[in-house]
Amino acid sequence: MSAIILYATLEKIEMQDSFERQIDYLRISITDKCNLKCIYCIPDKQPEYFEKSEILTPDEIIRFVHMAHKHGLMKVRITGGEPLMRKDIISIISGIKKIGIQDLSITTNGIMLADMAGALKKAGLDRINISLDTLDARRYSNMTQGGNIQHVWEAVNEAERVGLDPVKINIVPIRGVNDDEILKFASLAFDKNYHIRFIELMPVGRNRRFKPDACVKKSELIEKISSLGELVLLEFKGKGPSRNYRIKGAKGIIGFISPISDCFCDYCNRLRLTAHGRIRPCLFSDIEVDIRTPMRNGISDEELEALFFRAVTVKPSGHYFSKDSRPFSAPASMSKIGG
Ligand code: SAM
Repeated sequence: MSAIILYATLEKIEMQDSFERQIDYLRISITDKCNLKCIYCIPDKQPEYFEKSEILTPDEIIRFVHMAHKHGLMKVRITGGEPLMRKDIISIISGIKKIGIQDLSITTNGIMLADMAGALKKAGLDRINISLDTLDARRYSNMTQGGNIQHVWEAVNEAERVGLDPVKINIVPIRGVNDDEILKFASLAFDKNYHIRFIELMPVGRNRRFKPDACVKKSELIEKISSLGELVLLEFKGKGPSRNYRIKGAKGIIGFISPISDCFCDYCNRLRLTAHGRIRPCLFSDIEVDIRTPMRNGISDEELEALFFRAVTVKPSGHYFSKDSRPFSAPASMSKIGG
């Protein structure tokens, strides 16, 4: 097993992992704290949050991204916890953008976004994913344990207005909770260029308490949504988890992220960096490479590079839902490792 380095251009080197997947995408969790408590995202037990001193600083994050960019990193997504809760989010975004990252996005619940969208765009943010699991105000408050849906719609409108385009809306349909809203969500794509992305519920943390059939699978979603019109499969560019469709005549796109029913590991192009500075080559594997401790002990750029190469090398062929991966204990919650 080895990380293969391919020369793509004179100045940039591309990274391939041991299974010949090109690694050019990094998801960075910048906090494990969140201002909502979504019923399917919170951990089983009372969470223990990282101390502030344990969390990577903007300089540490930017140093790592800078090095990875030299090896073909092109796409960065900031997530959490709730990333907009970090007071230094603007300097993190502008620092990453200045490195030359082509595609820089954030996944957020949108609660704090309306007031920040303009500044984020100005700092270099390209796109935004907003998590919204119901269109009903009371249900939203119940599912998020206290969230106000009005803030999310203000965020969606402001994101569009400042040009954080296209706005992607993430929904996790859960049987008996919000699966009666699948068609309403899909219909949002008729008039607006929204990307509506249905994510299969993953058995993480407290979700193991949901009934086994709580996850609404892609095939069922497609069958339901097809009642709105012909679903045309869009060209797959060979990377990433989402399979995208357009309902004939609609402006927006319907995407499906189906880790349970349609494993996308063969096309996985990503690494993750946790808030406390561990490179995690796969969301659902417990393999981690610590970069925070060595960085704080003064490692050289070459040594940091070697840790990056190691993480690429040990990236498993598939996550633990897939047949050929070894068993491991599921993470406590998505917000802890960065969803
Ligand atoms: N706070 C931000 C937000 O709400 O978008 C970012 C973090 S959140 C963990 C990122 C994404 O993970 C959200 O879209 C959320 O719906 C999704 N998520 C969390 N737990 C999940 C689970 N068990 N299965 C599938 N998706 C999950």
